[in-house]
Amino acid sequence: KTQGPEIERLIQLLARLPGLGPRSARKAALALLKRRTDLLEPLADAMSEAARRLHTCPECGSLDTVQPCTICRDQGRDRTLIVVVEDIGDLWALERAGVVNGVYHVLGGHLSPLDGIGPEQLAIPRLIERAQPPVKEVLLALNATVEGQSTAHYLREQLALSGVAVSALQQGVPVGGELDYLDEGTLAAAIRARRPL
Ligand code: ZN
Repeated sequence: KTQGPEIERLIQLLARLPGLGPRSARKAALALLKRRTDLLEPLADAMSEAARRLHTCPECGSLDTVQPCTICRDQGRDRTLIVVVEDIGDLWALERAGVVNGVYHVLGGHLSPLDGIGPEQLAIPRLIERAQPPVKEVLLALNATVEGQSTAHYLREQLALSGVAVSALQQGVPVGGELDYLDEGTLAAAIRARRPL
């Protein structure tokens, strides 16, 4: 043993984060330990505060510390437009690009029958409930992957009788490109050039 169990536990937890293996986790842990007052303690407080207040928004399925979430509460948002995304990371990407003034709907993934993920495993029934007047448009901002596009196809069929217009991101979104990896300009262009389905 070279350090106490608390430090070992910190390293092991950090190593579970995406993009951090054991080596980067040790580096990150050391940086935190060396900067106890200006980094470690504020981070620990921020994390415990976020953990205590975290909720899944009952409207859109996003995660926030207020319920309903900040976006769903925002009176300045256009509630006639629902932008459908696979994951909260996609919602964050669209918000960073600053091109959506509607509200969102987070599916929680894409259809994947081979993995046992059908409409009931995703927030699809709730989307169908939400997609009615005063909502005018449902914009499917799904990834340009095979799974994302087959999910879009399924949703278009399910929403056909809703009386709400269904649109999708412009084809120009690179195939296999996940929204979170697109730069803000590309995302903005894809939103502006959306096409009816
Ligand atoms: Zn919400």
